[in-house]
Amino acid sequence: MSTQTEIAHFMGGLRKRNPHETEFHQAVKEVVTSVMPWYLDHEDYRKAQILERITEPDRIITFRVSWETDDGDIRANRAWRVQFNHSLGPYKGGLRFHPSVTQSVLKFLGFEQIFKNSLTGLPMGGAKGGSNFNPKGKSPREVMRFCQSMMTELHRHIGEDVDVPAGDIGVGAREISFLFGQYMRLENRWSGVLTGKGCSFGGSAVRTEATGYGCVYFCEHMLNQHNEQISDKVISISGSGNVALYAAEKAIDKNAKVVTLSDSGGFVHIKDGLTHQQLHYVKDLKENRRGRISEFAKEFGGVEYHHNARPWGIKCDVAMPCATQNELGTEDAKSLIDSGVIAVCEGANMPLTAEAAHLLEQHGVLHAPGKASNAGGVAVSGLEQSQNAMRISWTRDEVDSRLQSIIADIHARCVEYGHHEGRVNYVNGANIAGFKKVADAMLAYGVV
Ligand code: NDP
Repeated sequence: MSTQTEIAHFMGGLRKRNPHETEFHQAVKEVVTSVMPWYLDHEDYRKAQILERITEPDRIITFRVSWETDDGDIRANRAWRVQFNHSLGPYKGGLRFHPSVTQSVLKFLGFEQIFKNSLTGLPMGGAKGGSNFNPKGKSPREVMRFCQSMMTELHRHIGEDVDVPAGDIGVGAREISFLFGQYMRLENRWSGVLTGKGCSFGGSAVRTEATGYGCVYFCEHMLNQHNEQISDKVISISGSGNVALYAAEKAIDKNAKVVTLSDSGGFVHIKDGLTHQQLHYVKDLKENRRGRISEFAKEFGGVEYHHNARPWGIKCDVAMPCATQNELGTEDAKSLIDSGVIAVCEGANMPLTAEAAHLLEQHGVLHAPGKASNAGGVAVSGLEQSQNAMRISWTRDEVDSRLQSIIADIHARCVEYGHHEGRVNYVNGANIAGFKKVADAMLAYGVV
Protein backbone atom coordinates (compact mmCIF):
# COMPACT_ATOMS: atom_id res chain seq x y z
CA MET A 1 0.00 0.00 0.00
CA SER A 2 1.22 3.55 -0.70
CA THR A 3 1.71 5.98 2.19
CA GLN A 4 -1.44 7.89 1.19
CA THR A 5 -3.48 4.66 1.16
CA GLU A 6 -2.09 3.69 4.57
CA ILE A 7 -3.11 7.09 5.96
CA ALA A 8 -6.60 6.83 4.45
CA HIS A 9 -6.99 3.29 5.79
CA PHE A 10 -5.87 4.27 9.29
CA MET A 11 -8.08 7.37 9.36
CA GLY A 12 -11.08 5.34 8.16
CA GLY A 13 -10.73 3.06 11.19
CA LEU A 14 -10.20 5.96 13.57
CA ARG A 15 -13.33 7.76 12.30
CA LYS A 16 -15.34 4.59 12.72
CA ARG A 17 -14.10 4.10 16.29
CA ASN A 18 -14.67 7.78 17.19
CA PRO A 19 -17.73 8.94 15.24
CA HIS A 20 -18.60 12.67 15.12
CA GLU A 21 -15.37 13.74 16.86
CA THR A 22 -14.27 16.06 14.06
CA GLU A 23 -11.68 18.08 15.99
CA PHE A 24 -10.06 14.86 17.19
CA HIS A 25 -9.99 13.46 13.63
CA GLN A 26 -8.35 16.68 12.41
CA ALA A 27 -5.60 16.59 15.05
CA VAL A 28 -4.85 12.90 14.48
CA LYS A 29 -4.78 13.30 10.69
CA GLU A 30 -2.16 16.04 10.93
CA VAL A 31 0.13 13.90 13.08
CA VAL A 32 -0.44 10.69 11.12
CA THR A 33 0.27 12.46 7.81
CA SER A 34 3.65 13.59 9.14
CA VAL A 35 4.72 10.36 10.81
CA MET A 36 3.36 7.70 8.43
CA PRO A 37 6.38 7.57 6.05
CA TRP A 38 8.72 7.21 9.02
CA TYR A 39 6.36 4.75 10.77
CA LEU A 40 6.14 2.50 7.72
CA ASP A 41 9.93 2.23 7.73
CA HIS A 42 9.93 0.89 11.30
CA GLU A 43 8.51 -2.58 11.52
CA ASP A 44 8.94 -2.83 15.30
CA TYR A 45 6.58 0.14 15.87
CA ARG A 46 4.07 -1.26 13.39
CA LYS A 47 4.12 -4.72 14.98
CA ALA A 48 3.53 -3.13 18.38
CA GLN A 49 0.52 -1.23 16.93
CA ILE A 50 1.90 2.03 18.32
CA LEU A 51 -0.29 4.22 16.10
CA GLU A 52 -3.49 2.39 17.09
CA ARG A 53 -2.55 2.53 20.79
CA ILE A 54 -1.31 6.11 20.89
CA THR A 55 -4.60 7.40 19.42
CA GLU A 56 -6.66 5.68 22.14
CA PRO A 57 -6.74 7.61 25.46
CA ASP A 58 -5.64 5.72 28.57
CA ARG A 59 -8.99 6.78 30.06
CA ILE A 60 -11.64 9.49 29.95
CA ILE A 61 -13.38 10.55 33.13
CA THR A 62 -16.76 12.22 32.58
CA PHE A 63 -18.79 13.71 35.39
CA ARG A 64 -21.59 16.08 36.34
CA VAL A 65 -20.83 19.38 38.09
CA SER A 66 -23.81 20.74 40.00
CA TRP A 67 -23.65 24.24 41.44
CA GLU A 68 -25.85 27.05 42.70
CA THR A 69 -26.22 30.56 41.20
CA ASP A 70 -26.28 33.69 43.37
CA ASP A 71 -30.08 33.63 43.07
CA GLY A 72 -30.25 30.11 44.45
CA ASP A 73 -31.02 28.42 41.11
CA ILE A 74 -29.44 25.03 40.47
CA ARG A 75 -27.24 24.45 37.42
CA ALA A 76 -25.56 21.31 36.09
CA ASN A 77 -22.63 21.20 33.67
CA ARG A 78 -20.67 18.37 32.15
CA ALA A 79 -16.94 18.00 32.80
CA TRP A 80 -14.18 15.70 31.56
CA ARG A 81 -10.58 14.76 32.19
CA VAL A 82 -8.97 13.02 29.23
CA GLN A 83 -5.87 11.19 30.51
CA PHE A 84 -4.37 10.43 27.14
CA ASN A 85 -0.90 8.98 27.56
CA HIS A 86 1.52 8.94 30.50
CA SER A 87 4.45 7.13 28.93
CA LEU A 88 6.82 10.05 29.58
CA GLY A 89 5.61 11.23 33.00
CA PRO A 90 2.53 12.14 35.05
CA TYR A 91 -0.38 13.42 32.93
CA LYS A 92 -0.13 17.14 32.31
CA GLY A 93 -2.41 19.55 30.46
CA GLY A 94 -4.82 22.40 31.03
CA LEU A 95 -8.47 22.75 31.97
CA ARG A 96 -10.76 24.70 29.64
CA PHE A 97 -14.06 26.35 30.65
CA HIS A 98 -16.00 27.35 27.54
CA PRO A 99 -19.47 26.50 26.17
CA SER A 100 -17.86 24.96 23.06
CA VAL A 101 -16.06 22.27 25.12
CA THR A 102 -16.96 18.73 24.07
CA GLN A 103 -15.28 15.36 24.42
CA SER A 104 -13.95 15.73 20.86
CA VAL A 105 -12.33 19.11 21.62
CA LEU A 106 -10.68 17.73 24.76
CA LYS A 107 -9.47 14.60 22.95
CA PHE A 108 -7.85 16.73 20.26
CA LEU A 109 -6.23 18.92 22.90
CA GLY A 110 -5.09 15.92 24.97
CA PHE A 111 -3.65 14.22 21.89
CA GLU A 112 -1.70 17.36 20.90
CA GLN A 113 -0.48 17.68 24.47
CA ILE A 114 1.28 14.27 24.33
CA PHE A 115 3.65 15.44 21.60
CA LYS A 116 4.01 19.00 22.88
CA ASN A 117 5.06 17.71 26.29
CA SER A 118 7.42 15.23 24.67
CA LEU A 119 9.07 18.06 22.71
CA THR A 120 9.83 20.02 25.91
CA GLY A 121 12.18 17.24 27.04
CA LEU A 122 10.54 17.30 30.51
CA PRO A 123 8.96 14.20 32.07
CA MET A 124 5.29 14.90 31.33
CA GLY A 125 2.49 12.82 29.83
CA GLY A 126 -0.43 14.30 27.89
CA ALA A 127 -3.91 15.14 29.20
CA LYS A 128 -6.61 17.79 28.93
CA GLY A 129 -9.82 18.54 30.76
CA GLY A 130 -12.54 21.07 31.23
CA SER A 131 -16.21 21.79 31.15
CA ASN A 132 -18.90 23.36 28.98
CA PHE A 133 -19.38 25.88 31.83
CA ASN A 134 -19.37 29.48 30.54
CA PRO A 135 -17.61 31.79 33.01
CA LYS A 136 -18.73 34.89 31.07
CA GLY A 137 -21.32 36.88 32.96
CA LYS A 138 -20.91 34.79 36.13
CA SER A 139 -20.10 36.48 39.44
CA PRO A 140 -16.80 35.59 41.20
CA ARG A 141 -18.83 33.66 43.83
CA GLU A 142 -20.56 31.62 41.12
CA VAL A 143 -17.21 30.81 39.51
CA MET A 144 -15.89 29.80 42.95
CA ARG A 145 -18.85 27.49 43.61
CA PHE A 146 -18.44 25.92 40.19
CA CYS A 147 -14.69 25.34 40.71
CA GLN A 148 -15.28 23.84 44.16
CA SER A 149 -17.93 21.48 42.86
CA MET A 150 -15.73 20.45 39.92
CA MET A 151 -12.76 19.71 42.19
CA THR A 152 -14.96 17.68 44.53
CA GLU A 153 -15.00 15.02 41.81
CA LEU A 154 -11.70 15.76 40.04
CA HIS A 155 -9.53 15.42 43.18
CA ARG A 156 -9.94 11.62 43.12
CA HIS A 157 -8.25 11.41 39.74
CA ILE A 158 -5.29 13.80 40.07
CA GLY A 159 -2.14 14.15 42.17
CA GLU A 160 1.40 15.49 41.86
CA ASP A 161 2.66 12.11 40.58
CA VAL A 162 -0.53 11.18 38.73
CA ASP A 163 -2.03 14.09 36.83
CA VAL A 164 -1.29 17.81 37.18
CA PRO A 165 -3.85 20.14 35.51
CA ALA A 166 -3.23 23.82 34.64
CA GLY A 167 -5.19 26.66 33.00
CA ASP A 168 -6.44 27.17 29.45
CA ILE A 169 -9.28 29.19 27.89
CA GLY A 170 -11.51 30.51 30.69
CA VAL A 171 -9.22 29.16 33.42
CA GLY A 172 -6.71 31.70 34.70
CA ALA A 173 -5.08 32.46 38.07
CA ARG A 174 -8.46 33.07 39.77
CA GLU A 175 -9.92 29.70 38.77
CA ILE A 176 -6.69 27.80 39.54
CA SER A 177 -6.71 29.35 43.04
CA PHE A 178 -10.33 28.29 43.67
CA LEU A 179 -9.57 24.77 42.43
CA PHE A 180 -6.39 24.53 44.50
CA GLY A 181 -8.13 25.77 47.66
CA GLN A 182 -10.79 23.09 47.33
CA TYR A 183 -8.19 20.37 46.61
CA MET A 184 -6.36 21.25 49.83
CA ARG A 185 -9.61 21.24 51.80
CA LEU A 186 -10.47 17.76 50.51
CA GLU A 187 -7.02 16.19 50.73
CA ASN A 188 -5.73 18.05 53.79
CA ARG A 189 -2.28 18.46 52.29
CA TRP A 190 -0.35 20.94 50.18
CA SER A 191 1.12 19.54 47.00
CA GLY A 192 2.03 20.68 43.52
CA VAL A 193 -1.15 19.18 42.09
CA LEU A 194 -1.99 22.17 39.89
CA THR A 195 0.26 24.60 38.03
CA GLY A 196 -0.37 28.25 37.27
CA LYS A 197 -0.73 28.97 41.00
CA GLY A 198 -0.13 32.46 42.41
CA CYS A 199 3.58 33.15 42.99
CA SER A 200 3.04 33.61 46.73
CA PHE A 201 1.59 30.11 47.10
CA GLY A 202 3.76 27.81 45.03
CA GLY A 203 3.43 29.30 41.56
CA SER A 204 6.42 29.85 39.31
CA ALA A 205 7.76 33.17 38.12
CA VAL A 206 7.05 33.68 34.38
CA ARG A 207 4.28 31.01 34.23
CA THR A 208 1.69 33.67 33.35
CA GLU A 209 3.86 35.03 30.54
CA ALA A 210 5.38 31.72 29.41
CA THR A 211 3.13 30.68 26.51
CA GLY A 212 3.11 34.09 24.85
CA TYR A 213 6.81 34.77 25.48
CA GLY A 214 7.71 31.26 24.29
CA CYS A 215 5.75 31.78 21.09
CA VAL A 216 7.78 34.89 20.27
CA TYR A 217 11.06 33.17 21.19
CA PHE A 218 10.14 30.34 18.81
CA CYS A 219 9.15 32.79 16.08
CA GLU A 220 12.51 34.53 16.38
CA HIS A 221 14.40 31.22 15.98
CA MET A 222 12.26 30.30 12.99
CA LEU A 223 12.90 33.66 11.31
CA ASN A 224 16.64 33.59 12.06
CA GLN A 225 16.87 30.06 10.66
CA HIS A 226 15.56 31.48 7.39
CA ASN A 227 17.78 34.60 7.40
CA GLU A 228 15.11 36.97 8.72
CA GLN A 229 14.97 39.11 11.89
CA ILE A 230 12.00 39.68 14.17
CA SER A 231 12.71 43.39 14.77
CA ASP A 232 10.58 45.71 12.61
CA LYS A 233 8.33 42.85 11.50
CA VAL A 234 4.61 43.67 11.42
CA ILE A 235 2.81 41.09 13.54
CA SER A 236 -0.90 40.39 13.54
CA ILE A 237 -2.15 38.72 16.73
CA SER A 238 -5.62 37.30 17.41
CA GLY A 239 -7.12 36.96 20.86
CA SER A 240 -6.62 39.17 23.89
CA GLY A 241 -6.29 36.53 26.57
CA ASN A 242 -3.30 35.13 28.37
CA VAL A 243 -1.38 33.91 25.33
CA ALA A 244 -2.14 36.87 23.05
CA LEU A 245 -1.26 39.62 25.54
CA TYR A 246 2.10 38.19 26.58
CA ALA A 247 3.00 37.36 22.97
CA ALA A 248 2.26 41.03 22.21
CA GLU A 249 4.40 42.17 25.16
CA LYS A 250 7.44 40.15 24.09
CA ALA A 251 6.98 41.13 20.43
CA ILE A 252 7.05 44.82 21.39
CA ASP A 253 10.18 44.17 23.51
CA LYS A 254 11.78 42.72 20.38
CA ASN A 255 10.94 45.91 18.43
CA ALA A 256 8.28 44.27 16.30
CA LYS A 257 5.07 46.17 15.46
CA VAL A 258 1.88 44.53 16.77
CA VAL A 259 -1.06 45.74 14.66
CA THR A 260 -4.04 43.66 15.81
CA LEU A 261 -5.71 42.03 18.83
CA SER A 262 -9.18 40.48 19.00
CA ASP A 263 -11.85 38.75 21.07
CA SER A 264 -14.97 36.82 20.17
CA GLY A 265 -16.75 40.10 19.30
CA GLY A 266 -14.29 41.38 16.69
CA PHE A 267 -10.77 42.74 16.24
CA VAL A 268 -8.90 46.02 16.68
CA HIS A 269 -6.50 47.43 14.10
CA ILE A 270 -3.76 49.44 15.80
CA LYS A 271 -2.32 51.32 12.84
CA ASP A 272 0.82 52.71 14.49
CA GLY A 273 1.54 49.53 16.43
CA LEU A 274 0.61 48.65 20.00
CA THR A 275 2.52 50.57 22.69
CA HIS A 276 3.38 49.35 26.19
CA GLN A 277 0.97 51.95 27.59
CA GLN A 278 -1.88 50.61 25.43
CA LEU A 279 -0.99 47.03 26.34
CA HIS A 280 -1.18 47.97 30.01
CA TYR A 281 -4.70 49.28 29.39
CA VAL A 282 -5.78 46.07 27.58
CA LYS A 283 -4.34 43.87 30.35
CA ASP A 284 -6.34 45.75 32.96
CA LEU A 285 -9.44 45.66 30.72
CA LYS A 286 -9.21 41.89 30.16
CA GLU A 287 -7.61 40.58 33.36
CA ASN A 288 -9.33 42.80 35.96
CA ARG A 289 -12.44 44.30 34.41
CA ARG A 290 -13.29 41.40 32.06
CA GLY A 291 -14.26 43.96 29.39
CA ARG A 292 -14.50 43.77 25.59
CA ILE A 293 -11.77 44.64 23.08
CA SER A 294 -14.15 47.19 21.47
CA GLU A 295 -13.69 49.36 24.60
CA PHE A 296 -9.97 49.66 23.81
CA ALA A 297 -10.75 51.26 20.43
CA LYS A 298 -12.99 53.83 22.14
CA GLU A 299 -10.20 54.80 24.52
CA PHE A 300 -7.35 55.44 22.03
CA GLY A 301 -7.10 57.35 18.72
CA GLY A 302 -5.69 55.43 15.73
CA VAL A 303 -7.30 52.20 16.90
CA GLU A 304 -10.14 50.92 14.70
CA TYR A 305 -12.66 48.29 15.83
CA HIS A 306 -14.06 45.80 13.31
CA HIS A 307 -17.14 44.07 14.65
CA ASN A 308 -17.65 40.37 13.99
CA ALA A 309 -14.49 40.09 11.89
CA ARG A 310 -11.11 38.35 12.13
CA PRO A 311 -7.79 40.18 11.86
CA TRP A 312 -6.30 38.20 8.95
CA GLY A 313 -7.21 40.76 6.26
CA ILE A 314 -4.69 43.23 7.75
CA LYS A 315 -1.31 43.27 6.00
CA CYS A 316 1.43 41.67 8.11
CA ASP A 317 4.74 39.80 7.94
CA VAL A 318 3.91 37.36 10.72
CA ALA A 319 0.52 36.06 11.86
CA MET A 320 0.16 34.77 15.42
CA PRO A 321 -3.24 33.17 15.99
CA CYS A 322 -3.61 33.09 19.79
CA ALA A 323 -7.38 32.65 20.36
CA THR A 324 -8.83 29.21 19.60
CA GLN A 325 -9.01 26.20 17.25
CA ASN A 326 -9.87 26.63 13.55
CA GLU A 327 -9.91 30.42 13.77
CA LEU A 328 -7.94 30.80 10.52
CA GLY A 329 -9.57 29.26 7.45
CA THR A 330 -8.88 29.10 3.71
CA GLU A 331 -10.05 32.64 2.92
CA ASP A 332 -7.97 34.02 5.79
CA ALA A 333 -4.92 32.09 4.55
CA LYS A 334 -5.44 33.51 1.05
CA SER A 335 -5.60 37.07 2.44
CA LEU A 336 -2.40 36.51 4.40
CA ILE A 337 -0.60 35.05 1.37
CA ASP A 338 -1.78 37.95 -0.81
CA SER A 339 -0.46 40.44 1.73
CA GLY A 340 2.98 38.75 1.68
CA VAL A 341 3.01 36.98 5.05
CA ILE A 342 6.27 35.08 5.62
CA ALA A 343 5.44 33.12 8.77
CA VAL A 344 2.50 31.88 10.83
CA CYS A 345 3.40 31.04 14.40
CA GLU A 346 0.63 29.38 16.42
CA GLY A 347 -0.01 30.58 19.98
CA ALA A 348 -3.34 28.75 20.13
CA ASN A 349 -3.82 25.01 19.69
CA MET A 350 -4.71 23.98 16.10
CA PRO A 351 -5.87 27.50 15.10
CA LEU A 352 -5.57 26.68 11.39
CA THR A 353 -8.01 24.52 9.49
CA ALA A 354 -6.32 21.66 7.61
CA GLU A 355 -7.04 23.43 4.30
CA ALA A 356 -5.50 26.71 5.48
CA ALA A 357 -2.37 24.89 6.67
CA HIS A 358 -2.09 23.13 3.32
CA LEU A 359 -2.41 26.40 1.40
CA LEU A 360 0.32 28.07 3.45
CA GLU A 361 2.63 25.13 2.87
CA GLN A 362 2.01 25.26 -0.90
CA HIS A 363 2.99 28.94 -0.89
CA GLY A 364 6.16 28.39 1.10
CA VAL A 365 4.95 30.24 4.22
CA LEU A 366 6.79 29.14 7.37
CA HIS A 367 4.32 27.50 9.73
CA ALA A 368 5.08 26.72 13.38
CA PRO A 369 2.48 24.33 14.86
CA GLY A 370 1.25 25.04 18.38
CA LYS A 371 2.72 21.86 19.79
CA ALA A 372 6.15 23.44 19.17
CA SER A 373 5.54 27.19 19.35
CA ASN A 374 3.16 27.33 22.31
CA ALA A 375 5.01 24.72 24.42
CA GLY A 376 6.48 27.46 26.62
CA GLY A 377 3.45 27.37 28.92
CA VAL A 378 3.61 23.71 29.71
CA ALA A 379 7.41 23.90 29.91
CA VAL A 380 7.22 26.44 32.75
CA SER A 381 4.42 24.38 34.31
CA GLY A 382 6.94 21.53 34.34
CA LEU A 383 9.44 23.85 35.99
CA GLU A 384 6.75 24.82 38.54
CA GLN A 385 6.33 21.11 39.38
CA SER A 386 10.10 20.75 39.88
CA GLN A 387 10.23 23.82 42.15
CA ASN A 388 7.25 22.52 44.19
CA ALA A 389 8.88 19.09 44.56
CA MET A 390 12.12 20.69 45.78
CA ARG A 391 10.27 23.32 47.89
CA ILE A 392 12.24 26.15 46.29
CA SER A 393 11.48 29.14 44.03
CA TRP A 394 13.70 30.18 41.16
CA THR A 395 14.04 33.84 40.23
CA ARG A 396 12.35 35.36 37.20
CA ASP A 397 15.66 35.45 35.31
CA GLU A 398 16.40 31.81 36.13
CA VAL A 399 12.99 30.63 34.87
CA ASP A 400 13.08 32.85 31.78
CA SER A 401 16.53 31.59 30.84
CA ARG A 402 15.39 27.94 31.25
CA LEU A 403 12.32 28.74 29.13
CA GLN A 404 14.49 30.23 26.38
CA SER A 405 16.78 27.23 26.38
CA ILE A 406 13.82 24.76 26.21
CA ILE A 407 12.35 26.68 23.25
CA ALA A 408 15.74 26.72 21.50
CA ASP A 409 15.94 22.93 21.96
CA ILE A 410 12.41 22.42 20.59
CA HIS A 411 13.30 24.53 17.57
CA ALA A 412 16.47 22.50 17.02
CA ARG A 413 14.45 19.24 17.16
CA CYS A 414 12.00 20.60 14.57
CA VAL A 415 14.93 21.50 12.31
CA GLU A 416 16.52 18.07 12.78
CA TYR A 417 13.38 16.15 11.80
CA GLY A 418 11.77 18.68 9.43
CA HIS A 419 14.70 19.94 7.36
CA HIS A 420 13.97 19.70 3.65
CA GLU A 421 15.78 21.36 0.74
CA GLY A 422 17.10 24.37 2.63
CA ARG A 423 13.84 25.03 4.48
CA VAL A 424 12.17 23.53 7.51
CA ASN A 425 8.76 21.90 7.53
CA TYR A 426 8.00 22.64 11.19
CA VAL A 427 4.78 20.62 11.21
CA ASN A 428 6.57 17.44 10.15
CA GLY A 429 9.58 18.18 12.36
CA ALA A 430 7.48 18.70 15.50
CA ASN A 431 5.23 15.71 14.85
CA ILE A 432 8.02 13.24 14.15
CA ALA A 433 10.31 14.42 16.97
CA GLY A 434 7.44 14.44 19.50
CA PHE A 435 6.03 11.10 18.36
CA LYS A 436 9.32 9.19 18.27
CA LYS A 437 10.10 9.72 21.94
CA VAL A 438 6.68 8.52 23.10
CA ALA A 439 6.71 5.58 20.67
CA ASP A 440 10.13 4.48 21.98
CA ALA A 441 8.85 4.54 25.56
CA MET A 442 5.71 2.57 24.63
CA LEU A 443 7.82 -0.01 22.83
CA ALA A 444 10.09 -0.38 25.87
CA TYR A 445 7.12 -0.92 28.21
CA GLY A 446 5.86 -3.93 26.22
CA VAL A 447 2.18 -4.62 25.82
CA VAL A 448 0.50 -2.38 28.42
P1 NDP B 1 -7.93 33.03 27.41
O1 NDP B 1 -9.23 32.54 27.91
O2 NDP B 1 -7.03 33.80 28.31
O3 NDP B 1 -8.15 33.91 26.08
C1 NDP B 1 -8.80 33.39 24.98
C2 NDP B 1 -8.92 34.49 23.93
O4 NDP B 1 -9.41 33.93 22.73
C3 NDP B 1 -9.91 35.58 24.33
O5 NDP B 1 -9.52 36.79 23.75
C4 NDP B 1 -11.21 35.07 23.71
O6 NDP B 1 -12.17 36.07 23.46
C5 NDP B 1 -10.70 34.49 22.42
N1 NDP B 1 -11.59 33.42 21.97
C6 NDP B 1 -11.91 32.29 22.63
N2 NDP B 1 -12.79 31.55 21.91
C7 NDP B 1 -13.01 32.26 20.78
C8 NDP B 1 -13.80 32.04 19.64
N3 NDP B 1 -14.56 30.92 19.52
N4 NDP B 1 -13.78 32.98 18.65
C9 NDP B 1 -13.02 34.10 18.76
N5 NDP B 1 -12.25 34.36 19.83
C10 NDP B 1 -12.23 33.45 20.81
O7 NDP B 1 -7.19 31.72 26.84
P2 NDP B 1 -5.64 31.49 26.58
O8 NDP B 1 -5.01 32.75 26.09
O9 NDP B 1 -5.08 30.80 27.76
O10 NDP B 1 -5.68 30.40 25.40
C11 NDP B 1 -5.74 30.79 24.02
C12 NDP B 1 -5.28 29.62 23.16
O11 NDP B 1 -3.94 29.25 23.52
C13 NDP B 1 -6.10 28.33 23.29
O12 NDP B 1 -6.11 27.66 22.06
C14 NDP B 1 -5.30 27.52 24.29
O13 NDP B 1 -5.55 26.13 24.18
C15 NDP B 1 -3.88 27.86 23.84
N6 NDP B 1 -2.84 27.64 24.85
C16 NDP B 1 -2.89 28.24 26.07
C17 NDP B 1 -1.88 28.03 26.99
C18 NDP B 1 -1.83 28.76 28.28
O14 NDP B 1 -0.79 28.65 28.97
N7 NDP B 1 -2.83 29.51 28.69
C19 NDP B 1 -0.78 27.08 26.72
C20 NDP B 1 -0.76 26.58 25.35
C21 NDP B 1 -1.79 26.83 24.49
P3 NDP B 1 -13.45 36.20 24.45
O15 NDP B 1 -12.90 36.70 25.75
O16 NDP B 1 -14.37 37.15 23.76
O17 NDP B 1 -14.03 34.82 24.57
